[in-house]
Amino acid sequence: MGVTRREAVALGAALAGAAALGTGAEAARRRRVVVWAEGTAKSDFYPRDVNGAIADGLKPLRGWDVVTAGIDDPEQGLPDSLLNSADVLIWWGHKRHGDVSDALVERIVRRVQKDGMGFIATHSSHFAKPFQKVLGASGAWSNYDGDGSKLEVIVTAPKHPIARGVRNFVCPHTERYCEPFQVPAPEAVVFDGIFTRPDGTTEHSRHGLTWTRGKGRVFYFQVGHEEYPMYLQPEVQRIFRNAVEWAAPK
Ligand code: ZN
Repeated sequence: MGVTRREAVALGAALAGAAALGTGAEAARRRRVVVWAEGTAKSDFYPRDVNGAIADGLKPLRGWDVVTAGIDDPEQGLPDSLLNSADVLIWWGHKRHGDVSDALVERIVRRVQKDGMGFIATHSSHFAKPFQKVLGASGAWSNYDGDGSKLEVIVTAPKHPIARGVRNFVCPHTERYCEPFQVPAPEAVVFDGIFTRPDGTTEHSRHGLTWTRGKGRVFYFQVGHEEYPMYLQPEVQRIFRNAVEWAAPK
């Protein structure tokens, strides 16, 4: 199910530690985030694909098991045994959206709406089937331009839990996703983005949006083009940690 040997060893050690202390309840209280990707973005920046990098950034979370999963794993990485144990699912897709089975999409949406599993989609996952289905929208942006624009991420809701400890920051290069964004009105726009194009002109685009669907919380974060090391930036890693805590069932 995509748990690396290192993660399996760490999980075993954590459980053994809890057992040694006689705190089985502590082990039972641990929460789980699954970071899923489709395996198409391995690079010098992301040798274990984007989900490996996002998972690394989540490791400081206390009380959480961080598990990676991918489309080429059995049952597309999300057998019931894993999906039903996930408090939060983070999704990164780009070229293989169409390969994701409709049955899996239904199971994910049910977990969000009925059970309150958190769902976080990032960057090109605006076209991911579970994101479209859970929001009931196309998720399309009006235009996509890989011109290497500079991006300033603006914190527009500084009191929102996903913005905790985050100030405005710059990603030196990004791909531009342009408004309007075909999604329902969000409950919060936590982050805006100002692109500065190579010719010096600017435009804005929403970067962090939240919704509630049934019992579940949904967050979309535009940052994350695979040709740039954005998922390695400490501010981005902090946002993912905040988002996981926010999206978890209460
Ligand atoms: Zn991209």
